[in-house]
Amino acid sequence: MGNSSPQNPFSQSEWKGFNAFSNGRRWTNAEFGDFASDELVFKSIDASLGVEGLPQSGTGQSTLFTGVNCSELAGRHYGPYPHSSSKPVLKDQNIFVQWKKEAQTNASLGRSVFLNAFPNRFVKQAELKNRWSVTTRCCLDAGIPLRRIESLAKGEALAADLTGLGLKQVSGSSISVITEEKAANRTAHLCTKYGFLLYENFLTDKVGHEQDIRKAEKVLASLDRFLFQLNESLDYSKTTVIITSDHGNIEDLGTKSHTMNPVPFVAKGVLAPHFAKVSSLMDVTPAIMEAIRTP
Ligand SMILES: [Zn+2]
Repeated sequence: MGNSSPQNPFSQSEWKGFNAFSNGRRWTNAEFGDFASDELVFKSIDASLGVEGLPQSGTGQSTLFTGVNCSELAGRHYGPYPHSSSKPVLKDQNIFVQWKKEAQTNASLGRSVFLNAFPNRFVKQAELKNRWSVTTRCCLDAGIPLRRIESLAKGEALAADLTGLGLKQVSGSSISVITEEKAANRTAHLCTKYGFLLYENFLTDKVGHEQDIRKAEKVLASLDRFLFQLNESLDYSKTTVIITSDHGNIEDLGTKSHTMNPVPFVAKGVLAPHFAKVSSLMDVTPAIMEAIRTP
């Protein structure tokens, strides 16, 4: 979450999809602020975790998906892959593992899924080097199969770039490109089938490093269409959407690196009040688990 500036694409355009999750406020420091009602919580939260240096994805995501301060544990911010000290924590405490344990005593919770579809090449490379990103490692640790390209045609997965156009280009697979609206409707439908769904978008990080405002606006425009339609399609009496980030980047294209900025956090839907006290990446998974344990 950054200050308004020509280098911040969130302050340069009106994003109606993003703003649907913040009562119409822009996603900038000046406007976003803190808000909490029975159906919606949004605020800026800390991604620095009391550790010096710029936040990185390995430790940031490990913290986000476990509730353990993995930056502190590693003694530094580390990424993009998980630090060696994060791996045992992920294995025992990642959100998919916690969800699975909870579902053993409460079948009504349903199954958890990671929606992103991975090309064969990614999986082969990761297997060969035994080097997995935080989210894919979380799945492996919890015994959750990674969605593959074939799952897209069945409507059971999302391309990381939502439409599948980018995934088609990098993977060389035959993928039917869909609109962001269709991706959103698919997600809303899958929310009726599963208990916990995770979708990860890394393009905002990629274009943030490239410092190209046109590309950044293109990525945000695509996400904005998706979010707008998702907000229209979801049944919030049965679903809660959480949106956040492991670190800042795209909100300040004046720097090639990640930023020290706080990150946005949104919880919208029936369980939103459980997230009112979230103040850093560390609090997100514990708040999810607390929310689902409450009758
Ligand atoms: Zn990055």
